[in-house]
Amino acid sequence: MKFRFPKFDTVGAPLLAVLGVALLVLETRRQLRKPTQPKQERLLQNASVAALALPALRLLLLPALYAAARWSGKHRAGLLPLLRLPGWLNNIAGFLLLDYSNYLWHVLLHRLDVLWRFHNVHHIDLDLDVSTAWRFHIGENIASVPFRGAMMALLGVPARLVVVYEFFFEACTAFHHSNMRLPWQLEQQLVQVVVTPRMHGIHHSIVAQETNSNFSVIFTFWDRLHRTLQLHVPQEDITIGAPAYRNLEEQTPLWLLQLPFQKQRAWKLPDGTTPERASESGRHLPLLP
Ligand SMILES: [Zn+2]
Repeated sequence: MKFRFPKFDTVGAPLLAVLGVALLVLETRRQLRKPTQPKQERLLQNASVAALALPALRLLLLPALYAAARWSGKHRAGLLPLLRLPGWLNNIAGFLLLDYSNYLWHVLLHRLDVLWRFHNVHHIDLDLDVSTAWRFHIGENIASVPFRGAMMALLGVPARLVVVYEFFFEACTAFHHSNMRLPWQLEQQLVQVVVTPRMHGIHHSIVAQETNSNFSVIFTFWDRLHRTLQLHVPQEDITIGAPAYRNLEEQTPLWLLQLPFQKQRAWKLPDGTTPERASESGRHLPLLP
């Protein structure tokens, strides 16, 4: 199995670090949603969770996906070799299919109880900012290996494309988790194609039908295709997190690590009520400020 990805490590990773810092500065200067906890505290908390998840991503997930793509390339297995597309079109189709497979994986994370236990660690963050983009339980990254590896083999995407896609996947994840206020008109245009901070903010809402929408990672097409797009929620009305996990004190790094193995709480606020939104919602309605 190949573990060395020199371009990813010497160009991709430093670029991602620069992007992360730039987003951190921008989201501090131009806030989209009002944070509930001090920034430094959150950075420390989320960095502790990421300290386990990121090595798993680089040392296990990336080599495994690359190996699966190499295997399918060697055997000319999977969908893309059957289509015999010209090189450039094969790369575009591969990139889109990889993104679609990650939409499906994200839906599974929400639909299957065993996966939600891990993904919940990401969702119970009480604020949403660039640090949330790396706050994933190590178990979620490990659990994604069989699914995403199988997708590589089924799709037959070129192995090099897997590494390129992973770079854009991480860059877009950092962008749409950030708490940066983009001009609304610009974001209205952007959201036609790519996932934006306002769109993903709705996915992190404590209202269940909003959390169960907007699963796309890079392109918004997949939510449109599956009618899971939800843009018509004002950002100032969104409470970030999960209703039964509102206590900041309990969210220590060790507790977050153990969370998937504990009894999961029902989707209810501490007073026993279920968060709902009275205002009009619908897939056909536009993005709100
Ligand atoms: Zn999610």
